[in-house]
Amino acid sequence: MTQRVVITGGASGIGLGLARRFAERGDRIAVCDADAAAIETVKAEFPDFITMQADVTSEAEMGAFLGHVESKWSGADVVCANAGTGGPAGLIEDLDYEAWKACVGVNLFGSFLTCRWAARVMRAQGNGSIIITTSTAGQWGYPYRSPYASAKWALVGLTKTLAMELGPAGIRVNAIAPGAVEGDRMERVLANEAAASGKDIEEVRQQYVKGVSLRSWVSADDLADMALFLTSPAASKISGQVMAVDGHTESLV
Ligand code: NAD
Repeated sequence: MTQRVVITGGASGIGLGLARRFAERGDRIAVCDADAAAIETVKAEFPDFITMQADVTSEAEMGAFLGHVESKWSGADVVCANAGTGGPAGLIEDLDYEAWKACVGVNLFGSFLTCRWAARVMRAQGNGSIIITTSTAGQWGYPYRSPYASAKWALVGLTKTLAMELGPAGIRVNAIAPGAVEGDRMERVLANEAAASGKDIEEVRQQYVKGVSLRSWVSADDLADMALFLTSPAASKISGQVMAVDGHTESLV
């Protein structure tokens, strides 16, 4: 059955990978992203998608995006609260309060605005599936990334709480926890961490790979496989779970 899928931060990386795979499954897709140029690229490639530039931390912009989706679709079957940012890297004593708040804002408060709308429309329709993108950083401590790790841990709490609140209304809420995903974002993360720790970037890369039992990076497609599963009939009894797609990451250091 065709599903109506909303994805935040869907103009690149994991979000775009999810959008492509849901579309291949025959679903209808709505994507927002803060990056105007990236949204234009998605719009050109997928003219059938609903696309809008919107910052997940802006109640007004998310109201415009989600209101537009609602006016077109009257609801949504799947909502992926995926937008996130790595935020500042550094020892806590060196981190700036505004940068800390901005990182928590995108990862956590943006997910609140997205999930609040999802809960409202899904409760009205009596079903739905919410997928929140957390991280292995939401399962482990993550040196030099305290705001990111804190926000991703908080998303686990949000997932489990919403699963309890919304389950009786027929709504499932799960999180996906990617490990290190190959691609541009990870290269930026490695470069930032190398700068923050004073290590060589290849040393930081090897440190990450050593913490992964399967000794390999994860791809956006690996995450899409999990999202497709979580929104399939096979997952109809799965809620409140954090599904790690991380090659079994045991340590981020
Ligand atoms: P990415 O940078 O490729 O994509 C993130 C997208 O979110 C970008 O298009 C960006 O423009 C958008 N975005 C950022 N801030 C936004 C905001 N305020 N409002 C709307 N859109 C915004 O990164 P990604 O790897 O695809 O990350 C997707 C999610 O996966 C994030 O939540 C991230 O924390 C999480 N994650 C990524 C990795 C990894 O290794 N890449 C690992 C674990 C978790």
